Amino acid sequence: MLNIRNIGKRFGSQTALSGFNLEVRDGEFLSLLGPSGCGKTTLLNIIAGFETADQGEVLWREKRVDQTPARLRPFHMVFQGYALFPHLNVFENVAFALRLQKLKDEEVQKRVRESLELVGLTSFEKRSVETLSGGQQQRVAVARALAPRPDIVLLDEPMSALDRQLRARMQAELRLLQKRLNLTFILVTHDQEEALSVSDRVALLHGGQLEQVGTPEEIYLQPRSSFVASFVGARNTFTASSVRREGANAIVRLPNGQELTGVAGFDLSNSGEVQGFICPEHVRLKPASASVAKNQLKGRVLESLFKGESKEAWVETEAGFPIRLRLEQDQDARAGDNVAVELPSDMTHLFSADTRLTP
Ligand code: ATP
Repeated sequence: MLNIRNIGKRFGSQTALSGFNLEVRDGEFLSLLGPSGCGKTTLLNIIAGFETADQGEVLWREKRVDQTPARLRPFHMVFQGYALFPHLNVFENVAFALRLQKLKDEEVQKRVRESLELVGLTSFEKRSVETLSGGQQQRVAVARALAPRPDIVLLDEPMSALDRQLRARMQAELRLLQKRLNLTFILVTHDQEEALSVSDRVALLHGGQLEQVGTPEEIYLQPRSSFVASFVGARNTFTASSVRREGANAIVRLPNGQELTGVAGFDLSNSGEVQGFICPEHVRLKPASASVAKNQLKGRVLESLFKGESKEAWVETEAGFPIRLRLEQDQDARAGDNVAVELPSDMTHLFSADTRLTP
């Protein structure tokens, strides 16, 4: 277990991290996700030992490592842009940390070959790294991080320079490699799709603090704050006013006066402005009817969009805001159709506007 306890870090007047706590389990793939400037790279650098925290502790298997020089920590980094040595061939790039550790030549040969095999670059030993494709360079960078047999591999946006298709392939490869080796991987990314698809757990950072940590399903389906709801998933948003609570749910009033039930956020108070969120795939299209059922809004289809693997429709609702929804394969929605949209209460998340909470 890696324990990150109460870490604080400032750069001049800029707070990069404050009161940051996180536990990373052995053998898990954890992503640090968040917008630019939220402190992801600073945290990764503090774990690696490239940056010193102003306060707090980093413990690995219950021993403090935050005073240990980077090269003596059992963690290795795959850098953004890979930071390969252009004048060295593939073999020497991968061997670099092993030579620093003064391992015997025989051991160096064995480990480099083993690492290159793991990333599928066995026949590339003699190649200059400059002649490799982006994906191949990334594999060399991963092999270089694996060669010293670290306990934790730290990855700083390793996929950011790759095109979409290659990125998806490399994500799958990394995930398989991590599971096969049963190592702990900590990945920094600002790409929510990437974090959700490769990770066992995702830690979402916001303004130098941990906003929520959980499995991809938890983060996606049970956002704990409006920040998480707006950062993860392409959700519909709407504003309402708070009315009353009913257990774990809350009932809010929409701009047209209609009431709507949803999951009450931790911060939801009994009065004031509310922000509501719902994912397009959770909204149901219903036929228009004279009466409105619970959590249904009357509306008119603005347009429908064919998106290859799915179909979507925009509906202008009588509640005063548009709703985007995913259509079933056999459903059709034509511009101008009068319809109703249902916002299932367990998939509608309600938060007080402009608040945040500690996880
Ligand atoms: P990005 O996705 O853009 O890399 P990030 O989430 O990794 O962002 P950090 O690089 O950790 O964020 O930066 C956190 C904050 O600390 C930012 O406001 C950044 O400007 C500041 N910061 C980071 N490194 C330094 C530095 N060496 N000197 C001054 N400020 C810094």
